[in-house]
Amino acid sequence: MINVAIDGPGGAGKSTIAKQLAKDFGFIYVDTGALYRTVGLAAVKRGFKPSDAEKVVPMLPNVKVELKFVNGEQRVFLDGEDVSTDIRMPEISMAASDVSAIPKVREYLFDLQRDIAKKNDCLMDGRDIGTVVLPDAQVKVFLTASAEIRAKRRYDELQQKGVEAKFEDVLAELKQRDYQDSHREIAPLKQADDAILFDSSNLSLQEAIDGIAKIIKEKTEK
Ligand code: C5P
Repeated sequence: MINVAIDGPGGAGKSTIAKQLAKDFGFIYVDTGALYRTVGLAAVKRGFKPSDAEKVVPMLPNVKVELKFVNGEQRVFLDGEDVSTDIRMPEISMAASDVSAIPKVREYLFDLQRDIAKKNDCLMDGRDIGTVVLPDAQVKVFLTASAEIRAKRRYDELQQKGVEAKFEDVLAELKQRDYQDSHREIAPLKQADDAILFDSSNLSLQEAIDGIAKIIKEKTEK
């Protein structure tokens, strides 16, 4: 199976780029952030503070998180309910980051991710795919962009969806999440030694897609 790992901070364009590349290459696209968001949502729904491991860990055996691929598109289910839209609420981003720092949560989601990669040619995006989840992936890309540009993209995305937000808040939240994701003890956001750094700050979406497609071709045609 061909496994492509794309890691990087929030808003770098991972999901948009990976989705298109998966179509072009005929791979499935796996958005692992959606899994952490679903656990975050499960905690919020129960009224738990997402950073409170004493509440979140005992909850895990009682929640069912599933990924399904409908017409090639990933949908995520919490206890049988499709929560693919709910997990995109801005407040769930921070909840995801909070629960993702809990080692038992990462353990809980590990097999699910590994299993999909074992059975499918896939492009998987996240924070620790190249370092922890798929250390043997044939292709590893660390996709980044400046914080301001990432915040602007997130802000535009929210505007388009009709979600009200202030640019300053989006930027502050993104910086806080970057910090939290890169400084946690377990599986922090970090470039794998053998990953290719790709900065999309000054590139159009198509240029970024073409650039990464070239990397995938070079690495997999060898
Ligand atoms: O990618 P996305 O912004 O949806 O991820 C939400 C949060 O989930 C991230 O801020 C990060 O804390 C966590 N995450 C992670 N490991 C991954 C993917 C996401 O810790 N592989």
